[in-house]
Amino acid sequence: MDLEKLRFLNEEEVHSIAETFGTPVFVYSESELIQRAEAARSFPNAFGITPRFAMKANPNGNILKIFRKHGIHIDASSEFEVERALHSGYSPEEILFTGQQPPSEARLREIVGRGTDYNACSLYQLELYGKCFPGTEISMRINPGLGSGGTKKTDVGGTTSSFGIWHESIPEVKEILNKYSLKVKRIHTHIGSGSDPEVWKAVAKYTLEYAEIFPETRIVNLGGGFKVGRMSDEISTDFQKIGAPVKELFLEFERKQGRKLHLEIEPGTSLVANCGSLISRIMDKVHTGPKGMKFIKLDSGMDSNTRPSLYGSRHPLIAVGKKPSGATEECVVVGHCCESGDVFTQEMGGEPMTRKLSESEIGDYMVMEGVGAYCASMSTKNYNSFPEVPEVLISEDKKIHLIRKRQELSQIFQNEILLP
Ligand SMILES: *Cc1c(COP(=O)(O)O)cnc(C)c1O
Repeated sequence: MDLEKLRFLNEEEVHSIAETFGTPVFVYSESELIQRAEAARSFPNAFGITPRFAMKANPNGNILKIFRKHGIHIDASSEFEVERALHSGYSPEEILFTGQQPPSEARLREIVGRGTDYNACSLYQLELYGKCFPGTEISMRINPGLGSGGTKKTDVGGTTSSFGIWHESIPEVKEILNKYSLKVKRIHTHIGSGSDPEVWKAVAKYTLEYAEIFPETRIVNLGGGFKVGRMSDEISTDFQKIGAPVKELFLEFERKQGRKLHLEIEPGTSLVANCGSLISRIMDKVHTGPKGMKFIKLDSGMDSNTRPSLYGSRHPLIAVGKKPSGATEECVVVGHCCESGDVFTQEMGGEPMTRKLSESEIGDYMVMEGVGAYCASMSTKNYNSFPEVPEVLISEDKKIHLIRKRQELSQIFQNEILLP
């Protein structure tokens, strides 16, 4: 396989950012984020589109602010994310709350009372909403009976998934709706991350059937899960391609039902994954003999990017040295945690794999690409007491801003209560 290349950084920027802020450090590009926001806003649609950023992918308030400025609304997956979005400047009406964990009745009243839409993901959640807000409108997440994800761990549809109201529970749904005089205004499905475009399109079709069953539906939200190629041999889902047949379905629905449905999508990964890089330093190099392997040890690990250990995900790795020799080497790249699974180049089952890289020395930098989604936000933070990694944003005017400080050691144990 060919060597991977830097995406939005150049070698000079790698050196200057690492020298200014230390390593490891996440770097995000505002220009890339804006391009992705614009691509989401031009998703094919028949009667209007609202893209929502699944903020769990990267909840830094500065990223949220950029998206808000460029017309992206929010998918919040917990009551805490709702507050975080508000804190960054979003208005309550721009947020849809779709949570696995139901809030308390008091919190639900507060959140919905301010104007945020609540998406009921279970019969219990639907009943809870009905009790608090009888005679109003509700959104509902349906598990359409099939799912698709890049891995089993990211598949959130079908019989093995707890996400959403099971599609055969429609009679129970109708009972609850009648009991509390609720009307369904939004039908929602989200089947997994890195899903097969064909399955996604099939689910769009099923979702419209629920819009037919619930005649007051005005909004259809098809979730996210659009596959993103991080490595150069992986392919990203093209919004124009996947959206065109879905637009046709909406037009057909209007011809048959006489209703113009508004489309919502909820990309997380595809809005941010390739807008972030992680700069680490090569701290050590070891080998396991002539029949063994060569290993490169970084000053980052699963506490900054858990995806390789969790899913066997591949991220481009680019060695950036002071004096490039042009030579290459086959190495396993490992993280700094005392945990055998902390390997950045591994197969799905956890087997370490070598990667062809430019020859490097201890002290050189290693840039990991495709780390904008589910890395800073989904790490095994503070494992081995390594501090949380700082984040830097390169703004559109090419200025470099620190948007999260490196965590201090004392912050790691500040909530600990040391008994005398
Ligand atoms: C996580 C999530 C998304 C985004 O998924 P991606 O794979 O990051 O695009 C969208 N909608 C809901 C409800 C989610 O939980």
